[in-house]
Amino acid sequence: MKVGKVYLVGAGPGDPGLITVKGLERLRAADCVLYDSLVPERLLDEVRPGCEAIHVGHRAGSRTMTQEDIHRLLIEKARAGKAVVRLKGGDPFVFGRGGEECEALAGAGVPFEVVPGVTSAVAVPAYAGIPVTHRDWASSVAFVTGHARADATDEDDEDDGGIDYAKLATGVDTLVFLMGVRNLPRIVEQMIAHGRPAATPVALIRWGTRPEQRTLTGTLSDIAERARNADFRPPALIVVGEVVRLREHLSWFEARPLFGRRIVVTRSREQASDLVRRLGDLGAEVIEIPTIQIDDPEDWGPVDEAIRRIGEFHWIAFTSQNGVDRFLGRLFRSGRDVRALASARICAIGPATASRLEACGLRADLRPERNVAESLTEAFSRLDVRGKRVLLPRPAVAREVLPEALAVMGAEVTEVVVYRTVRPAAHLEGLRERLRRGEIDLVTFTSSSTVAHFVERLEDGADAGPSGPLRDRVRGASIGPATSRTAREKGIAVVAEADPDDVTIPGLVRAVEKYFQNLQG
Ligand code: SAH
Repeated sequence: MKVGKVYLVGAGPGDPGLITVKGLERLRAADCVLYDSLVPERLLDEVRPGCEAIHVGHRAGSRTMTQEDIHRLLIEKARAGKAVVRLKGGDPFVFGRGGEECEALAGAGVPFEVVPGVTSAVAVPAYAGIPVTHRDWASSVAFVTGHARADATDEDDEDDGGIDYAKLATGVDTLVFLMGVRNLPRIVEQMIAHGRPAATPVALIRWGTRPEQRTLTGTLSDIAERARNADFRPPALIVVGEVVRLREHLSWFEARPLFGRRIVVTRSREQASDLVRRLGDLGAEVIEIPTIQIDDPEDWGPVDEAIRRIGEFHWIAFTSQNGVDRFLGRLFRSGRDVRALASARICAIGPATASRLEACGLRADLRPERNVAESLTEAFSRLDVRGKRVLLPRPAVAREVLPEALAVMGAEVTEVVVYRTVRPAAHLEGLRERLRRGEIDLVTFTSSSTVAHFVERLEDGADAGPSGPLRDRVRGASIGPATSRTAREKGIAVVAEADPDDVTIPGLVRAVEKYFQNLQG
């Protein structure tokens, strides 16, 4: 029997870029992933299709699985021959119970490897502008669990889970408490009682390294009250020590121009990901709203039939990246590969379609620039397609330009539907709620059609509340005058617009930056 292996991988503290190269490799190769609540969601997009992803996390109060359940599951999956990644927030051996999991695996004779991660205990202070050590201020640092033992009661106030405050309070320069926010009053009280000056600076950092990062500072004497007033909740770290003062000059993450701004990006094209990255790099919390979703066709039958007789086609014409992905995906699933296309010539409409084909090792013979009649007729007129069999993998609803142009030229066209675009039904309730609460700073629009889709979906089935229709709550940022016009026609206030000479994604980002600068100034 082939026994698999378990990889305990540290996912880093929240910024998905902080996983290690080795950790990412293991994750991409996994057959099965068991992940915790604090693992950055975006990392889960990295798993290969067919990989089983199981959420085993427990956030305080709502345990989904006990630690023993997790051990059993790890052993079971490995014994089934799988490459199992146990993905944990931060580093697996820093308050992650990774040690216990390894013990269970060792006891069961299941092979394992540990891929350490960037621990929140160091990285979260770093993102708040706090170096945990410094030649002038701190030559020692301790990571401490602030979680009072579950069996400790109010009367039993001697029990601090084995923490010796008498030694810690003055024995170490910087103290980083994890899991300690709920227990903050007890922690500061013990520190002061054991001799740490009440004026020692303290920082609380919530959701560190993520766009939602928030930092609250004070001293041992007032931080508990400040935290209560600010309703400061977990997950957060507590940093105690002189190094906290350095933040005043070293804060870099929170100093970025769009930090703390919540911006919605309505996705309709490939360029949306460029916009998401640029806004994110400037510090914004980007909320992506897909306006369309790609789904399987109603019936794969005609596609499978075309694949069976693929050798009979003289040409295959692709009109989109999705068409390429969907058709080739189905071809691979049938057990064949690109060699099945060897006898056909290939047409790719648009540069993005051509480059997607190239990524699959296929170079198009014919590349009309655009999916408009003139461009296609011109491209095909150089060939004689009369009587030639052309396979056209297409979406369920599409412009009929290409099949019509081919038919006019006498080709015999077989159209097969490889995908449908559907409007995603769910997802929007969260956004509506955030709009109602005034938590959304801006909504970006990159075309008139994204405006139309967005407004339609936003108010689809949602009641106009007492404060009027939801669109009244939207502040729009538009890529140019045409998009702005559509937005205003739909009743959306446009507060930022790219310069008319700069109707591009970078132009839109510049307009967004300027908008927030003016708000502040
Ligand atoms: N193994 C993890 C720690 C697990 S304990 C690591 O090495 O980082 C969970 C605690 O870590 C939380 O209660 C919180 O105190 C801290 N923590 C983890 N990620 C955090 C983040 N992004 N921001 C603030 N605190 C975080």
